Amino acid sequence: MSHVFHRHCHANLPTATGGHGIYLTDQNGNQYLDGCCGAAVTSLGYGHPRVIDAVQKQVQDMTFAHTGFFTSEPAEQLAEFLAINAPGTLNKVYFTSGGSESVEAALKMARQYFLEIGQPSRHLYITRRQSYHGNTLGALGVGGNQWRREPFAAIMTDAHYIDPCYAYRDQHPNESEFEYGQRMANQLEEKLRELGPENVAAFVAEPVVGATAGAVPAVTGYLKRIREICDQYGVLLILDEVMCGMGRTGTLFACEQDGIEPDLITLAKGLGAGYQPIGAVMVQQRIFDAISSGTGFFQHGHTYMGHPVACAAALAVQQTIQDDQLLNNVKQMSTKLFNRLHHTFSDHPYIGDIRGRGLFVGIELVADKDSKQPLPIESSIHTAIKAEAMANGLMCYPMSGTINGRDGHHILLAPPFIINDTQIDELVDKLEIAVNTSFKKLH
Ligand code: PLP
Repeated sequence: MSHVFHRHCHANLPTATGGHGIYLTDQNGNQYLDGCCGAAVTSLGYGHPRVIDAVQKQVQDMTFAHTGFFTSEPAEQLAEFLAINAPGTLNKVYFTSGGSESVEAALKMARQYFLEIGQPSRHLYITRRQSYHGNTLGALGVGGNQWRREPFAAIMTDAHYIDPCYAYRDQHPNESEFEYGQRMANQLEEKLRELGPENVAAFVAEPVVGATAGAVPAVTGYLKRIREICDQYGVLLILDEVMCGMGRTGTLFACEQDGIEPDLITLAKGLGAGYQPIGAVMVQQRIFDAISSGTGFFQHGHTYMGHPVACAAALAVQQTIQDDQLLNNVKQMSTKLFNRLHHTFSDHPYIGDIRGRGLFVGIELVADKDSKQPLPIESSIHTAIKAEAMANGLMCYPMSGTINGRDGHHILLAPPFIINDTQIDELVDKLEIAVNTSFKKLH
């Protein structure tokens, strides 16, 4: 009997015993191609010698120094690396141990900033219905995933919602993609007027929506318009790049492709790439300055923030991605992956949309391609595809969810940045078998 409280209480999970390159191995010697990096985490794959060396060295030199007493070389170096490579003046880095902690910190930072600058009425957050920002109460409170929120609604603070930017389903036939993006972004202005802009602290959104919708990028111009509206009404823009950041979309920060600079960016997953648990909030200099010249400290913190071993691991991961020019591989392999997916699934009766950016790809499953009618949630097709894929040696990330009031299913693919041509073929071949077998069993 296992004493681990597994999230899925009845799951009979294999035991992972080894990892090399893009493959994990279980206790029976079965190999799994990691087609989703767990949940967009392990961008460098498993067992990378440079990262292992960095972790071992740091453990030997100095394992832990509490941030109330000391800073550390790895934390300083990682922060400098991020500041140099981030867009604009996102100069300050606040370390956390994961994505939810990053979102919590960003929400509180936005609130404290407005207290410091004498705008205490700003306390509300606007987010999008199609969003997941983490499972701690503050992060869950700004998320729009109903299934995750429901049991805890009574103990959460609510956010205020606008619709997501989800062209496949919501773009009108008579409007251009650009017009659609402007229409959706303008919902933010309407919501601000409804709430009173003087009461709103921040708008929170993922540039490419991951877990709730399957790699849905905003259309061109959407985030630029969002930035304009935030500026006009003095609201902070928090971009959640926990899943889509750190090179996943082909640029280090996903928002680089939208040509905007947020006030805060939340990071995690790909930052440490699973070698250590680490997250971060990147902050505009002026926000830091307001807190620094006001109270003088940010009224928030966690014991393990800026952990030296985690920072050393993340620094080695990011330097490897940069030195080995792996973002070029992300772009090349992205083209190959999209080509193979379109070739394999374009005529598939149950695949409605293939979308994403870089090595962050979503495949939307539908009951009918013409009407885009989603499959009923009870079909649990996502569970079947995951099980078939695992039985065939592939990890992929199929999900179900309610998006803008509609049930839906999609599969998220997010392979490691080191994947090669042959492995892309292996991934798509195995996925095709898993999808076809699952649908055959459904009927
Ligand atoms: N934000 C986004 C966009 C995420 O996708 C996730 C996790 O999937 C989180 C926040 C929460 O991160 P964590 O699970 O590390 O707390």
